[in-house]
Amino acid sequence: MPELPEVEHVVRALRVVVGRSIIAGEIRLPKLIAPLSVSTFNRKIKSCLIRGISRRGKFILIELAGSADVPSAQRAKRAQSLIIAVHLRMTGKFLYLNADDELPKHSHAIFYLDNDRRLVFRDQRQFGVMKLISSSELSQTKGISELAPEPFGDEFNLDYFKSVLKRSRRSLKTLLLDQTKVLGLGNIYAAEALFRARINPFKNASELSSQRAARLHQSIIEVLHDAITDSSTSRVDLEQADGFSYGEAFERFWQVYEREGEPCVKCGAKIRRETHGGRSTYWCPKCQRR
Ligand SMILES: [Zn+2]
Repeated sequence: MPELPEVEHVVRALRVVVGRSIIAGEIRLPKLIAPLSVSTFNRKIKSCLIRGISRRGKFILIELAGSADVPSAQRAKRAQSLIIAVHLRMTGKFLYLNADDELPKHSHAIFYLDNDRRLVFRDQRQFGVMKLISSSELSQTKGISELAPEPFGDEFNLDYFKSVLKRSRRSLKTLLLDQTKVLGLGNIYAAEALFRARINPFKNASELSSQRAARLHQSIIEVLHDAITDSSTSRVDLEQADGFSYGEAFERFWQVYEREGEPCVKCGAKIRRETHGGRSTYWCPKCQRR
């Protein structure tokens, strides 16, 4: 499952379609866009301009506006802009194909663009979600309304983080995975952030000292920032059906994740793994003693 940095890379790659209009949509898997019907979905997006691509948590937001080609009366009806909110879940991927490129298997949504190209959403396991909503509904949308503040925004400040820690009765590792409390860390980056901050993953969140809370807060932002900006980690190619795979490109970046038994990059002690809350946790028993 892609983590937030990977989703951010997809968002950046998708910006290639900003400024294009959608000539027509084709939905081959109705459950992808449920509860909307395929005909309603297609009618609403037809002729819309793709205004921007952004992200909220791991939802990719394709921002639409009424097209200039549409008569003004119709355009007025669409004054309220629309958003296609997409969650990739396990295997969802976007492709940007030429008109004569072969459509790969599991292509569930196809957007025909005004430059003769197609934006395709394929999803082998079919857990992906595509919701068409008005932009004013975004903050109340299930799955989005519950999310904690964005990790790079002003709201995710140290005071916020400390108050979340204080109120929690869980371990740090479990808390960091809760997207309603701390947004952006999956199993990989939670382990990496705790390692950077030299803090034990099994420690009770509410017992973290103020100084160490500040260190962890900083590490969370840094680890996500580095994963997004490190050029060696970016491997999203929208033109190839299997041109990118989540996670693999990031391995070099990981310091503890999936490194059980390997020497710690800081002290040489063997990295340990333990199953905690149903997920594998990796840590250095020496650097992250407490
Ligand atoms: Zn170590």
